[in-house]
Amino acid sequence: MTFHSKIPEGKLSEKWSNYKATQNLVNPANKRKMEVIVVGTGLAGAAAAASLSELGFKVKVFCIQDSPRRAHSIAAQGGINAAKNYPNDGDSVFRLFQDTVKGGDYRAREANVYRLAEVSNLIIDQCVAQGVPFAREYSGLLDNRSFGGALVSRTFYARGQTGQQLLLGAYGALSKEIHKGQVELFTRREMLDLVVIDGRARGIIARNLLTGEIEKHAAHCVVIATGGYGNLFFLSTNAMASNGSAAWQCYKRGAFFANPCFVQIHPTCIPVHGDYQSKLTLMSESLRNDGRIWVPKRKEDAEKIRKGTLKPADLQEDERDYYLERRYPAFGNLVPRDVASRAAKERCDAGFGVGQAGLAVYLDFASAIQRLGKEVIEARYGNLFQMYEKITDENPYQTPMMIYPAIHYTMGGLWVDYELQTTIPGLFAVGEANFSDHGANRLGASALMQGLSDGYFVLPYTIQNYLADQIEIENISTENIEFEESAQNVKARIDKLLSCKGTHTVDYFHKKLGNIMWNNVGMSRNKVGLENAIAEIEALKTAFWNDVKVSGTAKGVNLELEKALRLVDYLELGTLTAIDALHREESCGGHFREESQTEDGEALRHDDRFMYVAAYEHKKSQNVDYVLHKEPLSFENIEVKTRNYKTSK
Ligand SMILES: Cc1cc2nc3c(=O)[nH]c(=O)nc-3n(C[C@H](O)[C@H](O)[C@H](O)COP(=O)(O)OP(=O)(O)OC[C@H]3O[C@@H](n4cnc5c(N)ncnc54)[C@H](O)[C@@H]3O)c2cc1C
Repeated sequence: MTFHSKIPEGKLSEKWSNYKATQNLVNPANKRKMEVIVVGTGLAGAAAAASLSELGFKVKVFCIQDSPRRAHSIAAQGGINAAKNYPNDGDSVFRLFQDTVKGGDYRAREANVYRLAEVSNLIIDQCVAQGVPFAREYSGLLDNRSFGGALVSRTFYARGQTGQQLLLGAYGALSKEIHKGQVELFTRREMLDLVVIDGRARGIIARNLLTGEIEKHAAHCVVIATGGYGNLFFLSTNAMASNGSAAWQCYKRGAFFANPCFVQIHPTCIPVHGDYQSKLTLMSESLRNDGRIWVPKRKEDAEKIRKGTLKPADLQEDERDYYLERRYPAFGNLVPRDVASRAAKERCDAGFGVGQAGLAVYLDFASAIQRLGKEVIEARYGNLFQMYEKITDENPYQTPMMIYPAIHYTMGGLWVDYELQTTIPGLFAVGEANFSDHGANRLGASALMQGLSDGYFVLPYTIQNYLADQIEIENISTENIEFEESAQNVKARIDKLLSCKGTHTVDYFHKKLGNIMWNNVGMSRNKVGLENAIAEIEALKTAFWNDVKVSGTAKGVNLELEKALRLVDYLELGTLTAIDALHREESCGGHFREESQTEDGEALRHDDRFMYVAAYEHKKSQNVDYVLHKEPLSFENIEVKTRNYKTSK
């Protein structure tokens, strides 16, 4: 199995230019003969499919929803980063690169992150050309706001609907290609297996979610753009249909899975408010531009607030603890997500939390409203305030929002090299589905940047380098035995699930898995908890197969079956996530091991032992389930330091 990051030679700032100048190309006549499958129509998939088609390749694109526009990317609220430096506040490609590597706690590949920062400015130009209505300031330049982990304003936005507007842009580009007949769109399809022929990815098996038919689709190569696996934790800010199955099936076919334990917990979500909840709602990080986070200074006050005998507005300034501003004076409320989440947990665990269960902190706009006026705040965040009020029945213009951390994003994913190719030749992964450029913690507004960078600007080059030596391969036929074997494998999985005639629903087991994960593999982790989690997930797997009830049949629409297929994969992925968290005996980014912290409770890395990407290879024999491979990380252009958000240095 090849395992080589393929980072080009040369100076950091010249690597990508050198790559593009020397990669192999496919001539237009050959492009017309070559087919690419793209699974996923979020920002990464739609951008990739549209761009590859524009280049002249034939593209087949798949999604679960009834329209590409309904991909989870539509939910992205706050914005997208780029190093344009319009505010003239000191930004540059190098600073964006540096902030991203530092934000990820030095667990990402230098060359990839530099390329991402370099390409970021092209994304904005591309999206403006598509007509994406980014906010503008008075002079007509695009406006920027601040996100965590940076001392500059570099986040481009379209009110609180940036993902939606970007996705409409990508969807427009994709629709043009569909109209030309160059892209074939398959909606309401779920990829359930990867087809590998002679060691190369050559197609997928998908279930038609309306008819239940198991379909075979062939191509010269396959791109996975299926998003992240945050719903492993059951409750998350992800869309309900988000799942990790396509990536997991690729893992089972031989693609390495990297850093599964690097999961992001977002500090500003609407707190859990009941046992029957199946989804959590994000309050965008952009709110931390103007909102100040606090809890009462005195436990007695917190208790009175919890009982409803005291209101937040009753507390004077000196009775409030703006704990982020206190602990991290340089970055204040704009510390990165992992730092802000842990600080909220620390205050709530210490008894200062608000909300009925004491599991919430305040996000307060009173001083911003006083300073700027309600109209300005409404123009900036109106739709988010409206959403908050609809869900909680409280008016955030009048009383502070209550927020608490929740599962939000997965930095782990399919391992890819510099070309975004997995360890299976011809299988590429883009967007949140790959293990990406964010190391152990992603900075806000960088996921959209990465997905669009991968799809619009990186893959169109790198995939050609692969396809250049495939031009002699005729159309791949679904008559190949490997397609039939994979289809039978999928049918057998479905039959096995439908034959379980247990008593509990799929959600019953998924909630249990979510609880195990959140309690032991969540915001803070320790050896005993992780070992327990691994044992508990094993027991849950057994209980699931003994007692799950998947109603309905394999034909037609069957939501229970869809959920069951995804949960089977989550049960396995949950185990690997806990194993990865157990082996990484250090704290870095979103991975906080209680055994590895400084005296004042900050994350303590162990660069001497863990400065690597953990890449897992699936094994079905030799009495092991996986083999851990390590891709060493080296930093030649940036000084590796302890992350510090207390000062500006
Ligand atoms: C509430 C919220 C707000 C966010 N706000 C921001 C923000 O402001 N800025 C930022 O940078 N990031 C933000 N993020 C993160 C960002 O939205 C995501 O990381 C990003 O949109 C992922 O894009 P993607 O294209 O990789 O995948 P997705 O948008 O998740 O798309 C996945 C696609 O794959 C398809 N798919 C999945 N599995 C299968 C399968 N098995 N078969 C066929 N199709 C499949 C789906 O149908 C879908 O089309 C936010 C995330 C959340 C949850």
